[in-house]
Amino acid sequence: MESFYGFLEEFELRDSEEYFIRFDISPSKQLNVILENQRNLIVENDIEAVSSFLLELKLNKSKLKEFSTLSERTVREGQWYRIYLEEEGEVSAIQYQSLDNNEGIQKFISKIEFIDGRTSLGKKISSVISLDKIKDSSEKSITEILNNIKLPSLITVYNVGQGGCNAICDSLGVPLLYFDFGGGIGQNSYTYSNKHKFCFTESPPIILSHWDKDHWVSAEFDNISLDTNWIVPRQKIGVSHLKLARKLFMRGNLYIYPSHLTSIPFNAGMLIKNIGKSINDSGISLISRIKFKNDYFTTLLPGDCKYKNIPYINKMKFNGLIATHHGGHYTRDVKIPLARRSNRIVYSYGLNNTFNHPRNHSIRKHLNAYWNNRLDTTNGNIMLGPKFKTKIPTQPCRNRSCTLQIKQN
Ligand SMILES: [Zn+2]
Ligand SMILES: [Zn+2]
Repeated sequence: MESFYGFLEEFELRDSEEYFIRFDISPSKQLNVILENQRNLIVENDIEAVSSFLLELKLNKSKLKEFSTLSERTVREGQWYRIYLEEEGEVSAIQYQSLDNNEGIQKFISKIEFIDGRTSLGKKISSVISLDKIKDSSEKSITEILNNIKLPSLITVYNVGQGGCNAICDSLGVPLLYFDFGGGIGQNSYTYSNKHKFCFTESPPIILSHWDKDHWVSAEFDNISLDTNWIVPRQKIGVSHLKLARKLFMRGNLYIYPSHLTSIPFNAGMLIKNIGKSINDSGISLISRIKFKNDYFTTLLPGDCKYKNIPYINKMKFNGLIATHHGGHYTRDVKIPLARRSNRIVYSYGLNNTFNHPRNHSIRKHLNAYWNNRLDTTNGNIMLGPKFKTKIPTQPCRNRSCTLQIKQN
């Protein structure tokens, strides 16, 4: 039997009976050493000695109760657990050795123990594996990064399978700013088998909507992305997230969105601090504004956040919308952002993904709210902007070798 510490990264009710759960796990032995030493893991390199894996499982509602300390109350994103894996058993899970590997190993879970955050172990683990040692960035430093980019002409949504990756671009489709840098992972990594080669011609900063890996995994494949500035939300994180944060911090490229600011306006739009509790709901949303004649083409990029947890958008009307959470359903989220008359909605997901995104429920809700011009990333990279009918620009990288050619508008 092997013992691991697991950070619960994603938890979704697939249908009324079955849960999908993804953990970021590390061997207990390795992590115990780190917890003992209690050094600053952002500057010291101790964390590099700790392996981290993905562990994904589907679990029936009734089975949840069989695990001694798990209940609907204790299964929560951002929590830590102790997980025991065996070679045989009843409850199967798939372990992925690395983020670019879609050949998982089947394991069996014999027990999952909830680590109460109020216990000394709970406190220790969530403070050692965290962003606590890094200060919030100043509003000024973030505004400077954002106002450094040229005025954009269009928005792009890239086909990265079951994940999210968007950019605001110049008229040729060259990214000036990325919003998320993700792609399909784990059981959905096959939806992102052709990894993109990204464009950094204009030194675009990367905004991270939230810390779920399907929103940053491309940083694992394209190392150049580590040399640009990242603006990230302060959230609970696991070992693999900490490793990314450390790489960025050591390069001087990690900027933490200041928690006390509800929004950060800049020349091409506004960052908004989401107000929910879960990882999906407590990150950053982006409103992009592209000047067009005497008006603006306004697009909402919510990441995976429920619309009701994004302040300011209630009374706004949008031309463009990236459907939240890949079109995943949020049963209690009834209010859809208001659409302007000529509009575009984009669904970013991977074909036949394990979550059944986009859900019919979500598509219907958006349609009923008059979001009726739909584009799906499964058909290729997308652009949207004020001139719907304009020709799609060629070679975003001005003939340098990226794979971001736009396919549809
Ligand atoms: Zn996502
Ligand atoms: Zn998410």
